[in-house]
Amino acid sequence: MEEIHKKIDVLRDELHEHNYKYYIDDSPIISDYEFDMKLKELQELELQYPQFLDSNSPTQRVGGQITKSFENVPHKFPMYSLSNTYSKEELIQWEERIKKIIGNEERISYSCELKFDGASISITYKNGVLIQALTRGDGVQGDNITSNIKTIKTIPLKLKGEYPNFFEIRGEIIIPLEGFQKMNEERLAKGEPIFSNPRNTASGSLKMQDSRLVAKRPLMCFLYSIIGENIDVNTQFEALQKSKKWGFKVPDSARLKNSIDDVFDYIKEWELKREDLPYDIDGIVIKVNDFSHQKKLGYTAKSPRWAIAYKYKAEQVSTILEEVQYQVGRTGAITPVAKLKPVLISGTIVKRASLHNADQIEKLDLRIGDTVFVEKGGEIIPKITGVNSNYRGNLEARIQFINKCPECYFPLEREQGEAQHYCRNDNLCPPQQIGKIQHFISRKAMDIDGLGGETVTLLYKNGLVNKISDLYRLRKDQILNLERMADKSVSNLLGGIEKSKAKPFSKVLFGLGIRYVGETVAKTLVRAFKSINLIEKASFDDLILIDEIGEKIAKSIIDYFSKKENISLIEELKSFGLQFESIENQKSKHFAFDKKRFVISGVFEEYSREELKSEIESLGGLLVSSVSSKTDYLIAGNGIGPSKKNKAEQLNIRIIGEKDFISLKKSNNNKML
Ligand code: AMP
Ligand code: ZN
Repeated sequence: MEEIHKKIDVLRDELHEHNYKYYIDDSPIISDYEFDMKLKELQELELQYPQFLDSNSPTQRVGGQITKSFENVPHKFPMYSLSNTYSKEELIQWEERIKKIIGNEERISYSCELKFDGASISITYKNGVLIQALTRGDGVQGDNITSNIKTIKTIPLKLKGEYPNFFEIRGEIIIPLEGFQKMNEERLAKGEPIFSNPRNTASGSLKMQDSRLVAKRPLMCFLYSIIGENIDVNTQFEALQKSKKWGFKVPDSARLKNSIDDVFDYIKEWELKREDLPYDIDGIVIKVNDFSHQKKLGYTAKSPRWAIAYKYKAEQVSTILEEVQYQVGRTGAITPVAKLKPVLISGTIVKRASLHNADQIEKLDLRIGDTVFVEKGGEIIPKITGVNSNYRGNLEARIQFINKCPECYFPLEREQGEAQHYCRNDNLCPPQQIGKIQHFISRKAMDIDGLGGETVTLLYKNGLVNKISDLYRLRKDQILNLERMADKSVSNLLGGIEKSKAKPFSKVLFGLGIRYVGETVAKTLVRAFKSINLIEKASFDDLILIDEIGEKIAKSIIDYFSKKENISLIEELKSFGLQFESIENQKSKHFAFDKKRFVISGVFEEYSREELKSEIESLGGLLVSSVSSKTDYLIAGNGIGPSKKNKAEQLNIRIIGEKDFISLKKSNNNKML
C-alpha cells in the first residue's frame, strides 16, 4: 500500500510540474502524448485506490463536479473596483492628491500593469494548496466556484518554492482571442448561437454548473495581487515577482515607473502594442508601488485611493444605417445584419455590422437612416453601440423584425427563452438546404474529396441536389452540362462521393446536422448506441442518462427523428450503402440473429428481459412486440402469454426457450458476420 501511495504522489508531483512547464513557463519537456499517458495512469490508480483521493490532484483538471447553485461566501478582504479615467489631466490630478497625503518629500513609484478584460477572481491558498476560489460578486460576497476554477490549467493547484502559509491572490480570468474564435467556429458548425465577446463568455463560463464543460473552455488566468496578513512582501512589484516564483501566471508586461511622465510612456506604448496582444485589454492599471504608501492612502467606499485605471477609448465612428438585412443560417437561425454607409475603422472599411437578434434592435431603438455609432472591439464583426440622437432617421420607420423567412416565406418562430428567431421549414428553405449539404460534405463531417461549398450551391441552383441523399444520385452527364465543370473534376467529385460511403458512422451522424449534435456529441452517441436504429428508438430518458447528453440535445434528437422526412432521408442513405452502425457493432453480428425478428414473452432465469433484449440487438436481431408471419423466433420464458404461444404455433414460428437461445448464440460462433 505504501508503495502505491508513493507512486501516486510521485505521479502527481510530476504532472503538476509538467503542467507548470507547459502552461506557465511555456517550455514543455514531454510530449502531449506522454503527459496524457501519465495522467491516465494516475486516473486509474486513483480509481482503484480511492483512499488516496486528493481534491487537488492533477486529475481534477478535467472537472466532474456539478454545482446546482453556487454558495455565497463573504470575502475576507473586500474586492474593490477601480476608479477610472480616460484623460491624462485626471491622472495628473490623481498624483497630486496622492502626494498631498503621502507628503512631497517621499519618492512615489508606480506599478504599471495591463488591465485585462475578463472576470475577476480571488483564490485562497493554504499550506501551498488551492482551497477556495470566489467570484467578485458584489465585492463583499462572491460565489464559490472552486471546482470550476480548478479546471483552469494556468491556475496552480499546488505551489512551488517558499510561499506564505495562508494568503489570497487575485487575478483576471480571460479567454484569449484565438481560443474565442475557435470556440465560435465550433458553435457555428454545430448551429449554436455564437458568443458576442470574450469577456462575457469568460464570466459566463465560470458560472456553469458542470465543471467538465468549464474544463473545455479556453480559459486562462493572469494574477496581479496578493493579500494576506503575514506575507512578507513590501511592494506591489515585489508581489508580482514573488507570485511568479510560486508558480502563478504573472504577465511580463508590468513595469515599475518613477513618475507620472514615465507612466504616460507606458500608456502610449501599450496603446499601439495592445493591437498585437493575443487577448483583450481595456486599459492600464496604475498602482502606487509601496505597501506602506498604500496603507496610508486607504480606500474610498468603492475603490482604493492608491490605484487608478486608465482606459483606452475603443475606436468608434459614426455612420448611417441604410438597411437591415436578414441572413438565414444552416439551422434556420435568423441573424439581422446592419448594412451601413461604408466607413473606415482602425484601417479597415466597414460596411456591415452584426445586430445579433430582435432584442438588440429593440434595445437600440433603431430606425432606418439613423446615424449610429459603430465600434470594432475584440469581436470578429463590428457592432453598433448606440444611436446619435441628434441625427435620427425617419422616426416613423421603426424597424420591425420580420415575421416570415426572407428566403422561403415560412412564418418565423421564437421559442421562449431564446433570443433567436428561427425558420423551421428545414427541408424546403433554400439556404438551409444548401447549408445542410455543405455541412454534410465539410471537412469535419464526410470530408468529400473534389466537392466544395460553391459546387454544392451550383448543383443546388441547377436543381441537381435538394437534399443530402441526392448527392448519391448524381450522374456524370448531368454535371458535365454545368459551366466550369471539366471531365477530370467531375470524375474526382463522383469518386469522392463514392468513397464517402465508407466513412464511419460518427461522421455520417455529425453530417446529418441534427441541431446540437456536434462532432463530440455524435461520437458519444455512436459509442452509447452503436447504431442509428437504437438512437432513433431511444427515449428522452434513455438519452439524458448518457454522459454529456443534456436535455437540450436530447430534445433536439427526439425532434429530429419525429419528422418523417428525416427518417426517409436516413432510409435512402442506408440504401446507398452509407454507414449507420459502429464498427464494433458490425463485427459482433451473428448470422443466426442478423436482421431476424424476435418476440420475447415470459420471464427468464439467466437473463432479465432487458438483458435479453440488448443481447439480441447487439447480435444484430430486431425486437418486435407481437407475433406475426414475419416473426422468426418466439423466445418463451416462464409464464409465457398463451395467445402469443398459440399464434406462433399456428404460424409455424420457431419457439425456443432460454437454453436454446444460449446454444443458438454459441452455435457456429466462427460464423460471425
Ligand atoms: P472596473 O471593473 O472597470 O471597475 O475595473 C476593476 C477591475 O479591473 C478589477 O476588478 C479587476 O477585475 C480588473 N483588472 C484587470 N487587470 C487588472 C490589474 N492588472 N490590476 C487590478 N485589477 C485589474
Ligand atoms: Zn426559410
